[in-house]
This record gives sequence, structure tokens and C-alpha cells, in this order.
Amino acid sequence: MTETRETFAGLSDWQVALWYTLIAVSTAIFAWGVLLLVLKYRRGRSGLRFDRPLQRLGRTAWIVLSHAWIRRRDGVAGAAHLAVFYGFVVLFIGTGILAFQDDVAEPLLGWTFWEGPFYLGYSLFLDVFGFALLAGLLVLCGKRLSRPPRLDYGRVDGRIGDYNRGRYVVGDWLFVGALLFLGVTGFLLEALRIAETDPSFERWAPFGWLVGQGLQEVGVGGEAASAAHFRTWWVHGVAALAFVAAIPFTKAVHMLAAPASVATRDEWAGRRLQPLPEGAKAEEVGVGVVADLSPTYLLQLDACTKCGKCHAACPAAATGYPLSPRDLVLDLREQAEGTYGARSALGVAPLYGPEAGIVGATIRPETIWSCMQCMACVEICPVGIEHVPIINHLRRRLVDLGEMDPLLQGTLETIYESGNSFGEQKRKRGRWAKGLEFEVKDARKEPVELLWFVGDYASLDPRNVRVSQTLARILHHAGVDFGILYEAERNAGNDVRRAGEEGLFTDLAQSNIEAISGCEFERILTSDPHSFNTIRNEYPPLGGSWEVLHHTELLLELLESGAIAPARSLGHRVTYHDPCHLGRYNGVYDAPRQVLAGIGCELVEMPRNRDNSFCCGAGGGRIWMSELKQGDAPRPSESRIHEAIALGSVDYFVTACPKDVTMYEDAIKTSGHQGEIELRELSELVLESLDLLPVAVAAGGAPPEREPGDPPATA
Ligand code: SF4
Ligand code: SF4
Repeated sequence: MTETRETFAGLSDWQVALWYTLIAVSTAIFAWGVLLLVLKYRRGRSGLRFDRPLQRLGRTAWIVLSHAWIRRRDGVAGAAHLAVFYGFVVLFIGTGILAFQDDVAEPLLGWTFWEGPFYLGYSLFLDVFGFALLAGLLVLCGKRLSRPPRLDYGRVDGRIGDYNRGRYVVGDWLFVGALLFLGVTGFLLEALRIAETDPSFERWAPFGWLVGQGLQEVGVGGEAASAAHFRTWWVHGVAALAFVAAIPFTKAVHMLAAPASVATRDEWAGRRLQPLPEGAKAEEVGVGVVADLSPTYLLQLDACTKCGKCHAACPAAATGYPLSPRDLVLDLREQAEGTYGARSALGVAPLYGPEAGIVGATIRPETIWSCMQCMACVEICPVGIEHVPIINHLRRRLVDLGEMDPLLQGTLETIYESGNSFGEQKRKRGRWAKGLEFEVKDARKEPVELLWFVGDYASLDPRNVRVSQTLARILHHAGVDFGILYEAERNAGNDVRRAGEEGLFTDLAQSNIEAISGCEFERILTSDPHSFNTIRNEYPPLGGSWEVLHHTELLLELLESGAIAPARSLGHRVTYHDPCHLGRYNGVYDAPRQVLAGIGCELVEMPRNRDNSFCCGAGGGRIWMSELKQGDAPRPSESRIHEAIALGSVDYFVTACPKDVTMYEDAIKTSGHQGEIELRELSELVLESLDLLPVAVAAGGAPPEREPGDPPATA
């Protein structure tokens, strides 16, 4: 007996013709759905991002094939999805090979290859991967049945909305149920065929063979198996064609949109926000209506699988703010679908007019202003959605219309007028350096090795001034040649930009670039991760391209080179908080940890560490806005202190960001843990290890009261 099988066994000519007709109908519906998607994306402003196509395609292939992004922080679900993915792909390719044999190779070329060893290998391959598909689907069903919080569609913004989210649950189960149905009926089909004729070579399809033997055991063989096979063939085939036709209209659309989203993603997403178009008119500032979104963003909305990973990572969602990045994406998708998508084409409510504003109609302004721009959502999203830039675009439009928190508006005006968020006179910016026992060079007047861009908080906030003086003493002790810009330095603009004030950001950046360009130096140092990010990543397109390093990196350099040598091992038990703009934004995770190890501290990691760090709540300009939190949940910074306390007997909560110093020192008091843990900026521990005087600098303590106009406090 030849090792092969007949494709349309038992089907009459008209039944085969019907089958091909159904294939044509299914393909036509699928193509129409894809066309609707493409037409929707074409409504977006400007083009689809696809520069350097080879690099993008190579990277996308790696991310999709390895499931590197999907496996993160949930290895079990990631492995299950991997099994489903490869099971589906192999079965799809297997069906394609069969179609090629039947419709091209044999009738047109007279070539029959689907027999003998090829057929046996084919059977084995498809059988094993079909089993993997089923196993993966069962694990994913188990995950959903265990109801993890991230798959709970409850809204954190208290908004009921125009659409019923119950259909999301139905859609999820229909999708996974359809795949399960196809997998089970596929195996049954194979088993019935084997039970009918019982050819020994079908042992090469081991799982189907086993089920086939089982069917024979219970009396389903011969004629009975043949009749059941005929019915199952049609059920399975029609279900498969219906599934294909439904892909563009259902959750299955992510099979197309997710790889496309990864391929067109901005590799700088969030870290380097896009400038306004040259000579932008008012209606081109930010995003107000669906058509203002770029095709890339519209595509990304369809890629969302509702996995909830961004929702689980979001500090706003976790602490009572009316924002969930997942809900934001789903709300935007609903509006895009109701305005230009398949729902609009089919007239299915809720529909939206093209002029319907996004903020107000679909998304509350409080939702937009709750974002801390911490990048936790962008960093974890397995399909590459750019929540942070999207939120920033929505903010830009609100800022342009003047629709923002009066506190934020006041701070932006203060920055515009004074160049800093404290409203201090320019000449006070460098006063912190006057409290030192040595002179800090004015980099505008003489060449320096390191140009220290200090930032607002590190220059003007009393507690952070002590940290700046500490770092200056370390640099002086190490013999580092450094200087500052004094009154020529202005707010770097990182948070101004993330609050949505693009014009002011550009003004600040150009002013700083001009001041920096007038100095002679080798590298820029900054102790503020927010300034670090914007100078390093956002100044280059504006003409300011320099090597920029954070002080944690410099401290490590100094330790490793022997420029500073700890006089003793501190022996403190500490935990370290990764500032968002240092860690997630710029990948600096190891340097601070190595410094802590180098000065003899025992580091105890909090559960949320490195790229899973938890924002202090100050980012994205939130530190300049009124509180939007609802309910009794602790603030993000308090939640973090609780997390550190839960580690048990930790001496110090260490960080390396001036805003963190302010936020966490406050949170230690308001969370009720004063006396149980103390805050230290990394530099303070380094200075302590060097045994340099004055010791008071390293001892921390409450920041002094300060009146407007007072000189900054000194150690
Ligand atoms: S950037 Fe942070 S705060 Fe904003 S939506 Fe994303 S996770 Fe939430
Ligand atoms: S936006 Fe990304 S992370 Fe969030 S639910 Fe959708 S796919 Fe998951």
C-alpha cells in the first residue's frame, strides 16, 4: 500500500465544487476585512513608519518567532502561546502544501510528492504540532479560568462607556474556543480516517493513531467511521473557513496586526518624543480626533490582544488613578472602529462621527492627566503599542487648547518666565555650589572635563541641594575636573515635553543647547535621570549631540579606576529603587547596583525591580498637577515604601533621582514608616564610605524649612 491518502475521499464532484466555492467566499470576506483595515489606517495622519525595512523585518521575525516579548513576566502563558503559535503555523503550512499538491503540482505539473517518506514525515510533523496547539490552548483556557487580575475587564476610571465590555469576554472565549474546536475536530478527523482503514503506516501520526485505535475499541470502525468522517470533514472544513473569514473582524485580527505593529514600531518610543510637524497649524498639534492618529497608531490599536500586561504594570491603575493603558487602547480602538472601521462600514453601533473629539467623548481628561509617563506599559506590551507617545499627543492638543490643570499651567508659565519650576531667579541656580569648601568651575568661562547639567531639583530644592553638594565633594575628592553652567542652565525640558508643552520644550532645549555648545568639555554629567534622558535622547535631533552619563555611571567609573576608594565596607542592608528615566528609559540598571556592592552594601531587591520598577508618581509632569487619585489606595510612592518595608529590616531605601528623593522622603512619613527605614541618595552612601567630612552630609535628616529668596541650604 502506498503511504498516502486521498484528499477528497467520499466526496462527489458537486461536493468538491461546493467546497471550492466556500473557499472563495471565505477568502473574499477575509480580503474585504483586510481592505477595511487598510482603508481605516489610511485615514490616519501622515504615513506608516517603515524606514530601514530590512532591519525592521529581521527584528520583527526574531521577536515573533522567539516570542521574546510575549514570554516576559508570565513564562507559562508565554510557552502556551508559543505552542499555539507554532501549532497553528505548522498546520497552516501543512494545509498549504496539500493545496499545492492537489491544485498545482498534480494537475498542472503531473508531479505527486505527497506520498512515501514525505507523507510520513508530513503526518508526524502535523500530528505533533497539532497536539502542541491543543495543549497550549488548554493551558491558556486554564489561565483565563483562574481569573488573574490583569484579565479582569473592570474599569479603573469608573466610566461605564458606550459599549458593553461583556462582549470582550465573549470574544476572547469565542476565539480560543474556535481554535480548540478546530484542533479537536482535526484530530477526530484524522482518528476516524485511521479507524476506517487502519493502515499501519499511520503510526507516523502517533496521537491520531492512538485516538483511532480507541475509536476502534469502542466499535467505531469501517462504515461507521467512514460516515462519521464524512460529517466531521464538513464540520471541520466549514469551521476553518469561517475562522479565516472572521480574522479581520475579531480578536484574531492580532494575528495580522501584531507582527505589523512590531515591524512599524518607533524604536525610540517614549524616550524620544516626535516633534511637531514643521509649521504645524493648530489642528496639527497633537491628537484631537481619530484621523489625527498616525496609521501606525491605528494599526497598533488593532494589535492589542487585551492581555492586560500594561494594565498590571501601570502604577496609575494600581493606585486609584482613573487610567489603565489597556482601557485607553481599547477605548481608542472602539472609536476608530466606530468612525472608520468595519463597524462603521456595517453600521453597527456605537458609531462616531469623524469630528467626535477623543478626549471628552471617549476618554476622560483626568485619564490623560493621570499618566506618569513611566514607560511601564510600553516596556511590557508584547505587541509594541506606544501608549506613552499616544498619551503625549492627546496632552499636546489639550495644552494647545489651554485645557489643563491650573497648577500645571502655572508651573509651565513659571518655567517659561524663570527657566525653572521653582520660580527662582536665574542667578540662584548655582548658589548650591557656594556652600562648598572649594570652588566649582564655571564651565562657560574655562574648559572642563565634565560639564555637570544639574537640573532644577538638584539645584534648588534644599534636600536635593545637599545631595548635589555630596556628589560635588566626591568629584572634588576624586580629582575630577568638572564645572557647571550656573545661571545659563535652564530646565532641561523632559517633563515639560511629557506634559505636552512642545513649544516650551523646544525653547528650553534650544537655550540649553546654545549654552552647552559655548563650553569646552568632553562629556556631560547629570545627576537627574529626567535631564539625562532628554539631553541624551532628545537634544541630538535639535543639534545637541554629546556623550552624556548619569552620576551612577560616573561613580562606578571612579570606583573601578581607583579614583575613589572606600575607607570601609558600609555593611548596610539596602534596597534600590530604579528611577523610570534611568532604568526603563535608558537601561541603566547595573551601575548603581555595582556601586552599592563596591561600597559594601547588601542589596535586597524589591519584587518590582529593574524594568519592572514602580514609578514614584512624579513623572510626566504629575509632580506639577493636583491629585487625581480616587479611593484609599496608597500613592505610588507610598506603595513602594510598603514594598520596601515588607522586605524586613532594610536600613536604607536608596535611589538616584532628585524627584525620587523628594517623593520618597515624603512617602516614608505619610506611609507611617518613619523610623523604620531612611532614604539615601546613592552619592550619600558613597561619601559615607569614603569617610570624608563633613559627616553631616551623609547623615541625611529632615530638609530645612526654606522661604522664597533664601539661599539653598548647605550641609
Ligand atoms: S506610562 Fe506609566 S502611568 Fe502612563 S499609562 Fe503607561 S504605565 Fe500607566
Ligand atoms: S496594550 Fe499591549 S500590554 Fe496592554 S493589553 Fe493590549 S496587548 Fe496587552
